[in-house]
Amino acid sequence: MRAAVFYGKRDLRVEEFDLPPLKQGEILVKVKACGICGTDVHIFNGEKGSAKVTPPIILGHEFCGEVVETKSSLFKVGDKVSIDPNIYCGVCRFCRSGKVQLCESLTALGVNLNGGFAEYAIVPEKQAILFEDIEFEEAALAEPLACCLHGIKKLEIKPIDKVLIIGLGPIGLIMLEILKLYGAYNVYGYEIDEFRKEIAKWQGIKGIIEENTDEKFDIVIECAGTKESIEMAFEKLQKGGQLLVFSVPSPKTNVLINPFEMFKKEARVYWSFVNPFTQKLAIELLRAKKISLKHIITHKISLEELSQALNNRYERQLKVIVQP
Ligand SMILES: [Zn+2]
Ligand SMILES: [Zn+2]
Repeated sequence: MRAAVFYGKRDLRVEEFDLPPLKQGEILVKVKACGICGTDVHIFNGEKGSAKVTPPIILGHEFCGEVVETKSSLFKVGDKVSIDPNIYCGVCRFCRSGKVQLCESLTALGVNLNGGFAEYAIVPEKQAILFEDIEFEEAALAEPLACCLHGIKKLEIKPIDKVLIIGLGPIGLIMLEILKLYGAYNVYGYEIDEFRKEIAKWQGIKGIIEENTDEKFDIVIECAGTKESIEMAFEKLQKGGQLLVFSVPSPKTNVLINPFEMFKKEARVYWSFVNPFTQKLAIELLRAKKISLKHIITHKISLEELSQALNNRYERQLKVIVQP
């Protein structure tokens, strides 16, 4: 089959790749759509992923497709499946206490096991979620949606809360959709890209704030991942406020915060890692059209175009989907 194989920093080659035969409990999935995530860009540029990356490896962890071969009693040929890429050991102290995402031996399809930037992927049956009535390209967004659902669940959201989303890229816009489900209607954004501002307004954001405003917010969701955006997130927090730092900053990023200010505010601050137990919910929300994400897909590309897409941002870009 054809696959985009990652060989190391900025070295991605589309080539023939032979997958091993299926083992018991595995399915072979014809990949129909695989989203490009910030994590793929980080790994491509030689930075860390959620798990240790050992090239050569096929990246791509936001994918879905059709079962074409099965050694699982749970799936039959032709089933449409959404893939939860994160595999937990089930026996370490974190897994045994229900915090599977903190698993000491976390592995992930598309990070340290072959993933979705290929024509086919081998998937352990417990990582596949059956779905119907969702287009493949939108179903590929179930994974980032699941990550957002896990993060947002940590917050206590009341409809009246004044919310600020910093960074209105694909993740910020997904957060905006989820906030609507929580009944939050006082949702503001901070973003510099005009196109992204436009989409957020179309999606119903109440307003876009200027950087130097004195306005404070009950809830701040940070989705930009820079030193400046994270410092701004702390800065914009209201007394009694809650902050979710959701972005994946560079491992080298350090920020300056004033603990005394946070003390006076009695701030609650959360971080969020991957998507434990939320991908099925993500699929259900997409299927029920409670969440609609098709509009954040701005580019659909082939495997051959992937390397270029990881190198540069397109004009007016939100989510890029690879259709192998
Ligand atoms: Zn991702
Ligand atoms: Zn574990």
